[in-house]
Amino acid sequence: MSKILIRGAKVLGGAPQDVLIDGEIVAEVGDGLNAEGAEVVEAAGKVLLPGLVDLHTHLREPGREDSETVLTGTRAAASGGYTAVFAMANTFPVADTAGVVEQVWRLGKEHGYCDVQPIGAVTVGLEGRKLAELGAMHESAAGVTVFSDDGKCVDDAVIMRRALEYVKAFGGVVAQHAQEPRLTEGAQMNEGVVSAELGLGGWPAVAEESVIARDVLLAEHVGSRVHICHLSTAGSVEIVRWAKSRGIDVTAEVTPHHLLLTDEMVRTYNPVYKVNPPLRTERDVRALREALADGTIDIVATDHAPHPHEDKDCEWAAAAMGMVGLETALSVVQETMVDTGLLDWAGVADRMSFAPARIGRATGHGRPVSAGEPANLTLVDTEYRGQVDPAGFASRSRNTPYEGRELPGRVTHTWLRGKATLVDGKLT
Ligand SMILES: [Zn+2]
Repeated sequence: MSKILIRGAKVLGGAPQDVLIDGEIVAEVGDGLNAEGAEVVEAAGKVLLPGLVDLHTHLREPGREDSETVLTGTRAAASGGYTAVFAMANTFPVADTAGVVEQVWRLGKEHGYCDVQPIGAVTVGLEGRKLAELGAMHESAAGVTVFSDDGKCVDDAVIMRRALEYVKAFGGVVAQHAQEPRLTEGAQMNEGVVSAELGLGGWPAVAEESVIARDVLLAEHVGSRVHICHLSTAGSVEIVRWAKSRGIDVTAEVTPHHLLLTDEMVRTYNPVYKVNPPLRTERDVRALREALADGTIDIVATDHAPHPHEDKDCEWAAAAMGMVGLETALSVVQETMVDTGLLDWAGVADRMSFAPARIGRATGHGRPVSAGEPANLTLVDTEYRGQVDPAGFASRSRNTPYEGRELPGRVTHTWLRGKATLVDGKLT
C-alpha cells in the first residue's frame, strides 16, 4: 500500500492542512501529520479540491477517433483535474443500446486516467422518434442513469414526456439540449445586433428558452427530474429560477465558454468561436455568472467537443460547432468566478465536483476531502498565470478559443483513488 502525504494544502481554499492518502482512500486530514513511509507532495499555497466531475464530455469513441478517443479524452480530463467524466451518446454508432454503453464503459476501465460514465441516448439513433432501450442501458454493466440526445433536442413533447416517465422508475435523469429545431434552421450565431451586422443567420434566445419552459412544466407534470444542458441566455436563467421556486426538480449547467466569451468574438470570423448553443451577449454572460453564484445554475460542465483541424480550419458557415474544454475549464472558472469574487473555492468544489456527481449519481466522486473517503483529488496552483498553449494539450484536438490568452490557475496533481494520474503538471 502506497502512502502519499500532501503537505500544507488549502483544502477547498481553507486553512492549510496535511492530507494523508493510504492506498485508495484519504486516511487522515490534519496538522503536522506523520510523513513516515509516505511520499511527500509539498503543497504550500496550493488549493486542494475533490476530483472534478464533468457531466458533459464528448469522447468521440466509437466512430470519430480522429478527433478524440476514450484514452486521449480521459488524459485531457486528468490534466484538467477531473477524476470522472460523463460521455455523451452522439457517437458512431450512437450509444443507444446496452452493447454500446458497455463498450464505452469498458474502454474507460481499461485506460484508467479517469472514470468514464456513459450517457445513453434518449431516442434510437438520436432521431427523436422512438425511445431507446433506457431500462436495458440502466441495467447493463455501465449502469446508465443520465440520458441525453445532446447535439440534438428531444423536441417531440410526447417523447420527452415518456422519457421523463421512464427514468423516474429508477431515479434517472434526462439531460436536455434545449434547441427548438425550426427556430434555429440555418442558424450560425446568436440572433442580435452582431448577427444583423454580419448578415449571419441568427439563433434566437427564445429557441432555447421555449424548450426549457416546456420541459420544466413536463417534469412537474410527470413528477420526474430534468437536467438542462449548457444554459446560455439570461431568459433561460429566469425560467430555471422560476421552476426551482415552484419546487420543480430541475438542475442546470453552464459551460466555461458561456461564462467568458460573447458573440462579439464572431466578428473575427474565426470558426473556433462557433459553438452550440452560440456565444451570447455581455448581458447573458453577467446573468449566467450570477446564476452560477447563487445556485440557480447548479454546475459547470465543459461540453468538451473535440474536432479535427480540417473541420474547424475552414470558412465560418462550413465549420463544425464546438470547443475543447477539459484542460482549461478550471482556469476559466477561476478567471470568471473566483478572481471576480463571485464564488470561493468551496463554491467551485460544489459546482464542479459535489453537485455534478450528485446529479449523475457518480459513486465515489464528489465526496468531501475527509478521512475514509476515496482519494479522488486535484491540486491547483491558483497563483499561476500563463498563456494557453494548445500544443501542450493531451486532447487529440486543438479547437480551443483560448489560444494565446492568459488565464490563471494550473492543475499540478490529480489522484484517482489514490493513484496519481497527473504529477507536477505531467500525465503519468
Ligand atoms: Zn449540446
